[in-house]
This record gives sequence, C-alpha cells and structure tokens, in this order.
Amino acid sequence: MLHLCKTIIKEMGITDKINEILASIPKNVKLVAVSKTKPIEDIKEAYEGGYRIFGENKPQELKTKFEALPKDIEWHFIGHLQTNKVKYIAPFVSLIHAVDSIKLLKMINKEAEKNNRTINCLLQFHIADEDSKFGLSFEEALGMLESDEFKSLKNISIVGVMGMATHTDNQEQISKEFSNLKNIFSNLKDRFFTNSNSFTEISMGMSGDYKLAIEQGSSMIRVGSSIFGARNYNI
Ligand SMILES: *Cc1c(COP(=O)(O)O)cnc(C)c1O
Repeated sequence: MLHLCKTIIKEMGITDKINEILASIPKNVKLVAVSKTKPIEDIKEAYEGGYRIFGENKPQELKTKFEALPKDIEWHFIGHLQTNKVKYIAPFVSLIHAVDSIKLLKMINKEAEKNNRTINCLLQFHIADEDSKFGLSFEEALGMLESDEFKSLKNISIVGVMGMATHTDNQEQISKEFSNLKNIFSNLKDRFFTNSNSFTEISMGMSGDYKLAIEQGSSMIRVGSSIFGARNYNI
C-alpha cells in the first residue's frame, strides 16, 4: 500500500501539484509557482494546465523565459536584485518581492519611468535568525518611507512586505518570525498606507513552511520544489 502511494505521488504532474496546493490553501492566498532553474518546458506544462503566476530569481534567466513564453504570464521577481540588472526585467515584471534599499528602489523607479509604467514592489524584511539573509530592519524601513527621496519616486508602488523565515525544524520559531512580519505589515499600514488600497500583500511561506505562513496571515506564498521537484544547481 505504501509502495502504491509512493508511485502515485511520483506520477503527479506539475499541474496536479499546483492544483493540489491551490485546493489546500484559502482562496485569498496567491500562489507564486517558483520556476527558477527549471526548464521552459516545465513552465509551459504549468501554463497549459492553466497556471499564470511564476517566480524567478535571476534577471537574465527571467528575461529569457519571458521572451520564450506567452505574454499573459504574471512574472514575479523573488530574489536579491542588483541595481545594474533592473533593466532586464523592468519592461514586464509584475512584482518585485525583495526591495531592501533606497538605492535599489530609485533604480527600479528610473527603469519603470523609462518604460512608462509603475512597478509594484514589496519591502523585504530581515525576520530570520540568520546573518546571510537580505532584508531591512523595521527602523531602516521607517527611515526610508519617511525620506523625501522616497516620496519623490512616482513610478514605483509599495504594495506590501516580504520575508523568509529561518531554515530550521523549529516550527514555533518559524511561526514567531512570520507573526513578526505580519506585525511589521500592520504597523506600516497604519503609519504610511492607511489611505492606500494597494498595500495588501504579505509574501511569506515556501515549500517547507507555507502552511505556517498562512496561519500567520500570509497573502502570497512562493512555492518551488513542492511543484517542480528538487532543484539541481550543478547542471
Ligand atoms: C527559491 C525560493 C523560493 C521557493 O523555495 P522552495 O523551498 O523550493 O519552495 C521561495 N522564495 C524565495 C525568495 C526563493 O529564492
């Protein structure tokens, strides 16, 4: 019986996995299917199954995939973005998840203006108990949002926050970190975005922790390996 179950799981396609996740999460939580490192054929398979929201974390890879695939896909940039690479994705990206400096925000604004559009962004917060992760502290975000420099940017829209929890088995710790991000979101909403209908997103939760993230108020989960399988960085 166990053997049979394993066989069934193995034979589930990409679309089955997406549909399984969609069926298990609340309707108001968006699923970003993280296709980074995966071939265009895998995204095409998901697309043909009806899915339209994908996430990538390398600007050139995203540009290549954008060019090769249908244009009604909603592309999210989920990784650390270098200022000199904003130009690759500015013409078409739907949401940039990980903005953590005014320098980056200014470049996004500049490239958005060149393309005659407004680019939606999330502020990334450092919520994990790890040094290696990027992200703002609450104080840094306050400084940024209060600055005249920020207020002068007309081609970006801050639509919410994003964060990554510590890579740990300690569920309580992960929940606490997600709850912290939810509090940051509420606090910023009260201080800076009370009159904004667009400051709505809390991007948190990946394959290993999205259920905990949803319990803590996530509005957007970023799931890669549970949909497309484990990534191989050596190919
Ligand atoms: C790769 C990545 C994900 C998806 O990770 P999985 O564990 O494969 O679901 C989510 N968010 C970010 C920022 C990532 O870089």
